[in-house]
Amino acid sequence: MGTIIEPFRIKMTEPLAITTQEQREKWLREAHFNIFLLSSDQITIDLLTDSGTGAMSTKQWGALMQGDETYAGSRSWYRFRDTVDQITGLKHIFPIHQGRAGERILSQIRLKSGDVVPNNGHFDTTRANIEWMGAQAVNLVIEEGKNFALDHPFKGNMDIPKLKRLIDDTGPEKIPFAMITITNNSYGGQPVSLENIRETKALLASHNIPLIIDSARFAENAFFIHKREKGQGKRSLLDIAREIFSYADGTIMSAKKDGLANIGGFFACNDDQLAEDFKNLLILTEGFPTYGGLAGRDLEVIAVGLLEALEMEYQIYRHATVEYMEKKFREMRYPLVRPVGGHAIYLDAQQLLPHIPPLDYPGVALVNEIYLEGGVRTVELGSVMFGNIDPKTREESPAPFELVRLTFPRRVYTQSHFDYIVDIMKNIWERRESIRGYRIVKQPPFLRHFSAHFEPVK
Ligand SMILES: *Cc1c(COP(=O)(O)O)cnc(C)c1O
Repeated sequence: MGTIIEPFRIKMTEPLAITTQEQREKWLREAHFNIFLLSSDQITIDLLTDSGTGAMSTKQWGALMQGDETYAGSRSWYRFRDTVDQITGLKHIFPIHQGRAGERILSQIRLKSGDVVPNNGHFDTTRANIEWMGAQAVNLVIEEGKNFALDHPFKGNMDIPKLKRLIDDTGPEKIPFAMITITNNSYGGQPVSLENIRETKALLASHNIPLIIDSARFAENAFFIHKREKGQGKRSLLDIAREIFSYADGTIMSAKKDGLANIGGFFACNDDQLAEDFKNLLILTEGFPTYGGLAGRDLEVIAVGLLEALEMEYQIYRHATVEYMEKKFREMRYPLVRPVGGHAIYLDAQQLLPHIPPLDYPGVALVNEIYLEGGVRTVELGSVMFGNIDPKTREESPAPFELVRLTFPRRVYTQSHFDYIVDIMKNIWERRESIRGYRIVKQPPFLRHFSAHFEPVK
């Protein structure tokens, strides 16, 4: 195989901040050593997230100008609805301003205290919305999915025997719906097989439990099915996506991911009563059901983006980037989560920096070092984000892992940007033993990773 090229050329440029070591040291200190507190002018390459950070195509920009801003029944709504229908085949379709708006409405209309919602891996906002209603969010990924060193083609799969046990122990009446997240973001962006979705659906159907698919990265998941699942190699991604959604009773989609849009999403379902209840709360809190909190131009952009995400050339290129970076990191001998998922590389900071104890936050140490070295922003997924503080004793316990995620925005950075990142990581590897940990000097009671203040450990 020759070089896989970016299947697009650049028509409009956006300058990157080129910064000096002195500037970065000063800015990081001013941001209290928390990269969430940096501004974009201080960042050269931003790998914080792939959510809403993608680049739009000429087709999307062209469609944007066609946006019909009519309050009710706009042309853009019909275009959006027809595209979502083409992909999902679901009967009722509602635009939402982003994924969590759908999560909130669905949770509010269907959940009550004591309910249980199983998922192969709840996204953090999904979990938060379920718990807000007093219900319990349970993760049931297969055991292989929890082992960072193990290779498995579909590490995001639902553990079906465990799901069966949960239904038997809880009782189906306490499970208003179950979910599958594709790809399984909370466990490294790992895909779920078609077979697993089919079997999950069959089990749920036998108990009359609706299946809601969290489809933020449905196109990346369809690509993995095409590549890895037996008998799927000849099918188009649209065809695979249609089969995925044929097993769903409903879906929540954050179009900030595989919608290739900067904002937006949708909820869709088959059940008339569910649609009616969803619509009523949507009108009350988000907007009229033909725009759902979005502008007409957003609906146009998403309608184009959803189909572009299913283009084979695009997915081949996107996955080539992830694989290229995996190869480079392996050559440098960085410990990482394997196999790589669809949208990011996860480095194991604890293994890389064994001299830094978990509660000196090796993940934050590595994130800050990557920024200082080259102005690249990444994100810690470790004890700062997932650690626990006992509400009574104030004693802190670490997370089970200390990871650093390099998330790839869609169609934004070129090969040389990625080579630049590799250069940075080479320099960090050389001096990894001298990297020191951090301690927290100030933190809020919730979601502390966003705003905590740190200082280097002496
Ligand atoms: C991003 C995301 C969400 C939430 O969507 P927002 O658009 O950020 O509100 C839900 N589930 C998954 C898997 C996601 O990646």
